[in-house]
Amino acid sequence: MNPTAIDSLLPQTQCTRCGYPDCLAYAKAIAEGSPHNQCPPGGKRVTAELSDLLKRPPLALNPNNGKEQPKVLAFIREQECIGCTKCIQACPVDAIIGSAKQMHTVITDQCTGCMLCVEPCPVDCISLIEAASDQQPELMDTSKRIAQSNFYREKHANRNSRLEKLAQEKQAKHQALKQAPLPHVSNSTEAKKAYIAQALLRAKAKRKKYE
Ligand code: SF4
Ligand code: SF4
Ligand code: SF4
Repeated sequence: MNPTAIDSLLPQTQCTRCGYPDCLAYAKAIAEGSPHNQCPPGGKRVTAELSDLLKRPPLALNPNNGKEQPKVLAFIREQECIGCTKCIQACPVDAIIGSAKQMHTVITDQCTGCMLCVEPCPVDCISLIEAASDQQPELMDTSKRIAQSNFYREKHANRNSRLEKLAQEKQAKHQALKQAPLPHVSNSTEAKKAYIAQALLRAKAKRKKYE
């Protein structure tokens, strides 16, 4: 079975409650034979749809991953926020805006309700509020529900690409620094700093080689 067809039925909250890093990873695991009843946000409906698609016997939702419940949205109590950015780092769909030492805000329209931002917040200033009925997937008509999950999937893919690009840039910068010839040591402070930074990098690379 093609994982894309399975993924198209998953709710795309990217909440990780199924035990996989995101919905696509769980779809791939299902395609390889994992049980298809591990997704609490999808609940009974998605489990039944997966049974039909996979032509497997019906299964009850695995209660060990959490209960099926109405969709929630995250809300930051901005006066309490210390701007640590931990919630931004945790959000799988880039639905939080803010910068270091500034208050942060959830873009409600983009929040999947995955709850992943709550636990990392050091001052516990993120609340979860039940979404309005027109935002509840179980009450939406099929086309609206599919459009919503497509939107979440795209946001998550964009985030993954952005992080991948950042990691590659960091790696390239590191490589370039390691390979650059040592600068001529002059008396200028900048030249001394650059010389020390490169010497440290070379020593680190050498240590790694013998670890
Ligand atoms: S919505 Fe959450 S539990 Fe369901 S498949 Fe996606 S990541 Fe897994
Ligand atoms: S804001 Fe919080 S609950 Fe909403 S998608 Fe981001 S991490 Fe999940
Ligand atoms: S984790 Fe909490 S304190 Fe830190 S930026 Fe987010 S909301 Fe603010």
